[in-house]
Amino acid sequence: MKINEHFLDLKDSYLFATVGRKTAAYKAAHPEKEVIRLSIGDVTLPLAPVVIEAMHKAVDDMAHKETFKGYGPDQYCYGYDVLIDSIKGNYARKGVSLQSSEIFISDGAKSDCGNILDIFSTDNVVLVPDPVYPVYLDTNVMAGRKIIFADANEQNGFLPMPDESMKADIIYICSPNNPTGAAYSREQLKVWVDYAKKMDAVILYDAAYEHFVTDSHLARSIYEVEGAKECAIELCSYSKTAGFTGVRCGYTIVPEALVRGGVSLNKLWARRQSTKFNGVSYITQMGAAAVFTEEGERQIEENLNYYRRNAKIIADCLDELGIWYTGGKNSPYIWLKCPNGMKSWEFFDYLLENAQVVGTPGSGFGENGEGFFRLTAFGTEENTKKACERIRALLHQSS
Ligand code: PLP
Repeated sequence: MKINEHFLDLKDSYLFATVGRKTAAYKAAHPEKEVIRLSIGDVTLPLAPVVIEAMHKAVDDMAHKETFKGYGPDQYCYGYDVLIDSIKGNYARKGVSLQSSEIFISDGAKSDCGNILDIFSTDNVVLVPDPVYPVYLDTNVMAGRKIIFADANEQNGFLPMPDESMKADIIYICSPNNPTGAAYSREQLKVWVDYAKKMDAVILYDAAYEHFVTDSHLARSIYEVEGAKECAIELCSYSKTAGFTGVRCGYTIVPEALVRGGVSLNKLWARRQSTKFNGVSYITQMGAAAVFTEEGERQIEENLNYYRRNAKIIADCLDELGIWYTGGKNSPYIWLKCPNGMKSWEFFDYLLENAQVVGTPGSGFGENGEGFFRLTAFGTEENTKKACERIRALLHQSS
């Protein structure tokens, strides 16, 4: 018996563990101080009432012989028509037309980010941005693929563009981005689509934060770009859109037009799913189907606006202090340049000790994250305001 030795190539992820340990140690040493976490990557507002109502009704369906449901329908890898149709509607509002067979319901974007790799050879070269959402990196390390990096930095606004000297087969794009909050325009994505086609590569486009986009020139789906259906798979989630982090539901789009080596990737993915997956629960799917209804959209917008206001509070504070950042708009993340040339962990300690505010050091997301820092808009409005007052007072003083 041999283990998959590629697992031994994984770097230990100390980031969130160290943030937690340092925060706990500070609290233990200063029990009288109130520490505010602007490092939260999880949603904090409850599910929308329409979702709760739909899930309650679905639970009742399960209680009666006439309406009870077992495994989901075979036709679309266990996705119910009502949910698939609502997702089609969501895309149609972005000007994108999808067929039901192109929509695969998942238990979230993270699982499918990893699972989708089953349909690609381990010989492929993978291009990920630096800094990066660690899942893209680690899932490929586990499979032993060669990984190359696209430099995201202050010069390109943390939105790297393709460079034809980079030969890649699988390309990860996350927009709006975690951790940087930066989001691509349709024109920029068109350049990526053209590059992918030239390389005969496939783009894995993570649109987990697409519902935060408000600027009309920014893309909410890669399929808003002409030609993307021939080169891109899109991964989406109800997690940040509708607060489903604890419920678990997402969807992956594999267009019928996506063919490599004469083989339909849609058919490969359908085969993979029907072999290794038995679908998302009926109750969850019914809750998700309520999200993209007229009333559902209205209710989730209320929650999204709450987070957007928090992001603006943080962005306004940084503007006032003259601190460079990306995100803060079209994203729940704010990625800032640490003041006075501080390194990421140095700024973490400085902020914790002097303002009792916790963020996430950018260096934990890759080499290019050194000297940068991530704040999030997922806290309460009250705490976000309070944290910004403290940051303002501290950094005004030090400048
Ligand atoms: N993709 C990105 C970029 C994320 O930041 C996250 C969660 O933080 C996910 C995917 C995972 O989403 P899900 O909860 O649907 O698994």
